[in-house]
Amino acid sequence: MSSKYVLVINCGSSSVKFAVFEINSEHHIYHGLVDNINTDSCHLSFSHQNSIEGYHIPNATIEEALKKIIAIIKNDSAVKKGLTAIGHRVVHGGLHFKKATKIDQNNILKLKEISSLAPLHNPSNIAGIETCLTAFPKIKNIAVFDTAFHSSIPEIAATYAIDRDIATKYGIKKYGFHGISHNFISQKFTEITQNMKPNLISIHLGNGASICAIKAGESVDTSMGFTPLAGLVMGTRSGDIDPGIHQYLASKLNISLAEITDTLNKRSGLRALSRISHDMRKLEAAYVAGDKDAKLAIDIFCYSIAKYIASYMVPLQNCDGIIFTGGIGENSALIRFLVIQHLKFLSLNISEKDNNHNGACSNHIISQETSAIPVYVFKTNEELMIAKLAVNCKK
Ligand code: ADP
Repeated sequence: MSSKYVLVINCGSSSVKFAVFEINSEHHIYHGLVDNINTDSCHLSFSHQNSIEGYHIPNATIEEALKKIIAIIKNDSAVKKGLTAIGHRVVHGGLHFKKATKIDQNNILKLKEISSLAPLHNPSNIAGIETCLTAFPKIKNIAVFDTAFHSSIPEIAATYAIDRDIATKYGIKKYGFHGISHNFISQKFTEITQNMKPNLISIHLGNGASICAIKAGESVDTSMGFTPLAGLVMGTRSGDIDPGIHQYLASKLNISLAEITDTLNKRSGLRALSRISHDMRKLEAAYVAGDKDAKLAIDIFCYSIAKYIASYMVPLQNCDGIIFTGGIGENSALIRFLVIQHLKFLSLNISEKDNNHNGACSNHIISQETSAIPVYVFKTNEELMIAKLAVNCKK
């Protein structure tokens, strides 16, 4: 029997990531990236089997970058023949899209209607979908949403205490993001433990960071909100701040709300606190060297994570596992240690040895046997999750 493949496309504001998975083995046979889109230094690189290739495509637009990727796929006769689905990451599904959805012209119109909810991302996501629909008109194109996993969050956690009519009219509620990763973590936990309805706290710590309370396998609360700016302190995003600060800063600095939002998204968080970088590897090096600002940044980051973990005991009541993932969650023993240090009152204990090995041993567990809740490190795989959701999507 010939192999079946799924192409995964992830269009960001300045990059396109792609992967091709062989469906049965779940292994990717292509994995690549076009970065610095619309600039002189736009570059395509990809790995295939054991080789790595790359070349410059100066000033390529999203569409041009996608056409190069499509040419690579079409050039591979086995993949071209066996391609059964294309999964597109779409950041925002708004109120309409609550699960992975097969895309037709009608759904493209609906996606365009909700683009204002994610103006930096959804337009590139739509460009990716339209280019692939033209190139592969007979293959099903599936939109997989970052918000969809959180559509199970109950009203009590998703509703902001503002005018109900305004909230309804403009769709203002907690949508949550990183849902593809939190969904992957929940499924992986079930795979490893055979617990089909686990209660979990999934902590995704990358450049963006969010935490999700998962009850019986479903999201019941998450730290990001109407936008990805809410919640934990992140690389360059402030996370939760008093909304009164906007007005105060606007008048003191004589800048617009748009400029303030830009500052809170791009020049805040770890970067602003440390005055060094948003990059955790650099911050850890400075922390170890005794830099006071790096220490404050890391301490605030860990404190904000620990507070969310403790607060998610309210919706969960009991918890089967606390799981760290994302670039920082998977690699930083220091951050995991400092977070769990705040939670001794929950009888959580880290095993220094397993933590230092990033959970590479003992079923990914980094806690001691005496810990009231086991603590895990999982490597997230959003692309594989998109591939699985795309393959399983019937309509
Ligand atoms: P993105 O959210 O852009 O996908 P990642 O999940 O790759 O980002 O996470 C990027 C973050 O992970 C950066 O802050 C980086 O410094 C951090 N990181 C990666 N490797 C390590 C490491 N070995 N130790 C500490 N932090 C790390």
